Amino acid sequence: MSTPSKSPAEKMRIATIWLDGCSGCHMSLLDIDQRLVAAANRIDLVFSPIVDTRTYPQNVDVCFIEGAVASEEDVEKLHLIRSNTRRVVAFGDCAVTGNISAMRNRFALQEVMQRSYLENATHQPRTPDRDIPHLFDKVRPVHAFIDVDLFLPGCPPPADAIFEVLSALLEDRLPDLAGRVRFG
Ligand code: SF4
Repeated sequence: MSTPSKSPAEKMRIATIWLDGCSGCHMSLLDIDQRLVAAANRIDLVFSPIVDTRTYPQNVDVCFIEGAVASEEDVEKLHLIRSNTRRVVAFGDCAVTGNISAMRNRFALQEVMQRSYLENATHQPRTPDRDIPHLFDKVRPVHAFIDVDLFLPGCPPPADAIFEVLSALLEDRLPDLAGRVRFG
């Protein structure tokens, strides 16, 4: 993996996003704890659910994508990210394989909607028919739609593995994930 080269004075512009996931990968990112604070003088978090930025910016060095791809809206986001980002990380098993998010692939979309919004509803059962993205029949991983530069497995990936990837990107080297990650 070739990494973005930055002079020591330049901060690496990092983005994170979640598509169809549970936010657990982002929770694991926050588990980096004080090491994240120590890295803060070398990182600029330019877009993320944990910062108040609404529009995906240009010239992003690295984007961590949590979650699988289940809708046209997700695909639009992916193409926006890919065209404005040097390195894309598939962040967690849902992004890498589909994982939990893809469990609905065994059933027809109609069945899933009926089970979720009608059979299991305890108040005003109704299938949403507007203001939601069009869902695909099948949930797929990120690399089914855009090129991915690094796969970071785990459900969620351990904080140590996330920190190793961040450190490698900052130090312009390949991450050493041996013994730090596993699927599931
Ligand atoms: S990989 Fe696991 S922790 Fe991450 S979004 Fe998917 S289900 Fe949640």
